[in-house]
Amino acid sequence: MTQLSRIPLAGVIGSPVAHSKSPILHEHWLRRYGLPGHYIPMDIAHADLADAVRLLPRLGFVGVNVTIPHKELMLSVADLVTDRAALIGAANTLIFRQDGKIHADNTDGFGFMENLRQYAPHWRPTSGPAAVIGAGGAARAVVASLIEAGAPEIRIANRTRTRADAMRSDFGNKVTVYEWVQAGNILEDAATVVNTTSLGMVGKPEFRVPLDALSSNAVVNDLVYNPLQTTFLERAAQLGCATVDGLGMLLHQAAPAFERFFGVRPEVDDDLRAAVLG
Ligand code: NAP
Repeated sequence: MTQLSRIPLAGVIGSPVAHSKSPILHEHWLRRYGLPGHYIPMDIAHADLADAVRLLPRLGFVGVNVTIPHKELMLSVADLVTDRAALIGAANTLIFRQDGKIHADNTDGFGFMENLRQYAPHWRPTSGPAAVIGAGGAARAVVASLIEAGAPEIRIANRTRTRADAMRSDFGNKVTVYEWVQAGNILEDAATVVNTTSLGMVGKPEFRVPLDALSSNAVVNDLVYNPLQTTFLERAAQLGCATVDGLGMLLHQAAPAFERFFGVRPEVDDDLRAAVLG
């Protein structure tokens, strides 16, 4: 049997991985476009990661997505790493190339931008400062994409100051770092406001940053998508802001990976949202 005659396999690697929405959305697209293929969740322990990933192409896998806690380690497992994945410090997509090399990329920033473009079509990243709350892995993808899209200034406040300082040294002087207690102040005149922390997620503490300085012209996005309508988004909407939930980022970051796995660029639409929300 030749490589081309195999049914392509893809999947998501994490630990735990049972919570991942990726199998639902990739299987939805496979059915929708009538494509041969399967998408499989794989719970792989840290110690087995490198061996398991090297084996997958021989089993018929064309690539995989990567989720917590393996996104950072994948950079050292891959043979080739895109500049943006290296800058972000994490990979969420691996492509197994015909020449045997493993190619690592990060599409989270793409997902973030496409989500805002779809659900706040009037939004322009260039129209004013961006305020980013948080400095974890997701924040790094968000900031990389905002800089690439021409945001004039990015203000970051994070509970652990050193993580925000590291972003300033990695992303350059468009980034300004503020103390966590000043998180409410960075919203003043901001055109884009993003919560990249896990605050407000089911089971986590509430997002309590004061919104008094928030302008009603700001587009406000929460990366948290469980719940879909966070208290932060509700408070921002009450102040007159356009708000965008976090689910679209999850859906859009998957689209370039699906295209590379299965050969069709898929649509992110209401049917997909409904399928993922179950
Ligand atoms: P991470 O690297 O662990 O970063 C977590 C962030 O949350 C850090 O900034 C952390 O601050 C902050 N934080 C956590 N608990 C806090 C608390 N009690 N008070 C203040 N700050 C707190 O995680 P991540 O991968 O960046 O993910 C962050 C969030 O984004 C999660 O909710 C995740 O589900 C969501 N996310 C969504 C998408 C999507 O597609 N919509 C994609 C990626 C991530 P410290 O640095 O001080 O710990």
